[in-house]
Amino acid sequence: MDRISAGVPGGLLSVFNLMRRLASEKNVPVFLVGGQVRDAVLEISVRDLDFVLVGDAPALAADIADRLGGQFTVHSRFGTATVYIEGYHVDIVTARKESYSFPGSLPETSPSDLDDDLARRDFSINAMALPLSGNNPKIIDPFGGLKDLSDGLIRVLHSDSFADDPTRMMRAVRYEQRLGFNITVDTLLELGQTISRGHISAVSGDRWRQELYRVFWEYESVPILIRLMQLGILQGIHPALTDARAVNKLLGQSEIPSSHLISALVANMNSVDGDSLSQRLNMPSDLTRIVRDTITLGGLKSSISAPDVKISEICRILDALEPGAIEATVRFTSEPLLSERLIRYLREWRQLRGFLTGDDLLDMGIPSGPRIGKILRELRSALLDGLVSNMADERTLIGEIIQRGD
Ligand code: ATP
Repeated sequence: MDRISAGVPGGLLSVFNLMRRLASEKNVPVFLVGGQVRDAVLEISVRDLDFVLVGDAPALAADIADRLGGQFTVHSRFGTATVYIEGYHVDIVTARKESYSFPGSLPETSPSDLDDDLARRDFSINAMALPLSGNNPKIIDPFGGLKDLSDGLIRVLHSDSFADDPTRMMRAVRYEQRLGFNITVDTLLELGQTISRGHISAVSGDRWRQELYRVFWEYESVPILIRLMQLGILQGIHPALTDARAVNKLLGQSEIPSSHLISALVANMNSVDGDSLSQRLNMPSDLTRIVRDTITLGGLKSSISAPDVKISEICRILDALEPGAIEATVRFTSEPLLSERLIRYLREWRQLRGFLTGDDLLDMGIPSGPRIGKILRELRSALLDGLVSNMADERTLIGEIIQRGD
């Protein structure tokens, strides 16, 4: 218990200690569960706290928030509540039983006891609970989670687990790669069967997207994505998610934002598949643009790398695309000339502006309107291509444009 308290960040300690007091002095049947028990055993520092209460979790959350001066919200569908204190959040769930009416459905839930609550969980290593009363409580471990932790194994609790909730397959790979564990042979077999029975398609795009975000936020996001592809999990979500070449190029790179990971996943797709993937995952508009622009850029690689291409032409192509898609392409392209030009665009060419401004053009007697923008663009192109290099050159060019009359 002291080891756990030592790993609890300051802001959460008041909640943890209050829970312990309530458990010890008032016999409140509250337990620390899931990832925190797992991480405490592995001596990994605890980032948040999840409690399970055999009783009314929203009422306990209200009491805790009241005593510690925090806020709380209630999610009535599952009888769960979240307390917010000093920038942290603490989940308190009512111990419950779950059943799934068909593969991939949301579960039917009813309040129950701790045994049922642990039995509804994903893996043995996440199905342990620590009573909060007393100084030396014993971990409750009905599924052999402690042994699996010491053997480094990810194991589902029953053979229908992945069919009930196929998102657990992605969670299994996340823990496998994060902790350097192995998925047991039986669990892998069940994973394969769940994929071949097509249960992945029963899960909504929103749920898969949320799970995918959790992959993106992992330190080991790239190995996780590669493994998800190898196992056919991503392909089950969308049939075009099979090409790992761009993702492989990200191995060993650090601090890769989600947008770059999405970009690598779609780098070798065609635009029809890219659009249908965005729809399948119900992606927000910014990621939809990243998908579309990555694929568009992929199709324009040869124009950008052409030996005699003008810089202004490269900029015309790239100005229309999301910078995130360009930055991502730099990360995974294996074409040095393309990479060099994309980097120069991002660092130099994109910011370059002519010496004269719209106001200068107005002062020169050019009437306001779209023509001003057109002339400014032509000035920038001339500057990029080295045709002008100072204000006087620009004025001369403007004279020519006016004479040309367009
Ligand atoms: P992380 O370290 O990634 O936050 P965690 O174990 O805390 O891992 P959460 O997603 O926060 O994971 O979930 C908390 C707990 O709820 C898990 O440890 C697990 O017991 C249970 N759980 C979460 N998602 C599922 C699921 N899809 N099916 C069954 N149990 C789940």
